[in-house]
Amino acid sequence: MQNAALAAAGLTGWEYEAIDVEPGQFRGLVRKLPELGFVGVNVTVPHKEAALEIADEASVAAEAIGAANTLSFRDGMVLAENTDAPGLIDALADAAAGADRRRALVLGAGGAGRAVVWGLARDGYEVMLWNRTRSRAEALAAELGVEAIPSDQHAAIDPGPFEVIVNASAAGLGGGDGLAELPLDPGGFHAGQTVVDMVYGETEGTLVATARQDGAATIDGLEILVRQGARSFEIWTGKSPDLGVMRRAARA
Ligand code: NAP
Repeated sequence: MQNAALAAAGLTGWEYEAIDVEPGQFRGLVRKLPELGFVGVNVTVPHKEAALEIADEASVAAEAIGAANTLSFRDGMVLAENTDAPGLIDALADAAAGADRRRALVLGAGGAGRAVVWGLARDGYEVMLWNRTRSRAEALAAELGVEAIPSDQHAAIDPGPFEVIVNASAAGLGGGDGLAELPLDPGGFHAGQTVVDMVYGETEGTLVATARQDGAATIDGLEILVRQGARSFEIWTGKSPDLGVMRRAARA
């Protein structure tokens, strides 16, 4: 996806490559990368918190979320950003242009949930948070100033009243029935809503498929991947990537 975007932008000589690193070697590797000609990196699990710690400067988003997925190297400094939250907001802005967006339901209080809750709250949404382990939802909700789903509503949540619903949990990962793993009333989706599934895989998830069938706008995990990647691309290159090129490469 990034290599396709680099080529489409005419950035010859640029290359995006995957590097596996053990947690114990992460800091040493990052410090060496600028000497090797890297302008930056995307960072994924389990290194996102360490990426923030190692940085000389961090954005407001990375600090608030407590993790960085994008590092850039400039003038001997390591700069940290988190593009997961703005990537989601970019995708929502396109999907729900002009819609009345006030209430959001977020499922999942792990790393992705943190970014999603922070991003939506900052964008003006009234956020309700559910997590499989309730205490974790309560802790994150208190920290980020949103509401955890009250315990008596844990059996089945009606998605009807929410304009935006985001699965930021790992439910559905690996091809499982994501909708069945979540405490959502499957009959509650309707037109005027936007349903986002952060999880991506080989086939479409049941959450997105059901919501779309019932008239909701949907955004799948690959679109979110593209959007956060596009933000990272801009940070490193100073250019806007061709989103169509990135989408085609991600889905190929
Ligand atoms: P994480 O920090 O490990 O957190 C996992 C979360 O999923 C926890 O809230 C956990 O609940 C919950 N969970 C796990 N299995 C579940 C199940 N069967 N039913 C309901 N909840 C379940 O992981 P993460 O970094 O937040 O990532 C979560 C998902 O988002 C992953 O699938 C990841 O691939 C995806 N993601 C996608 C993008 C993208 O660009 N599209 C970006 C980031 C993440 P407990 O607290 O109860 O364990």
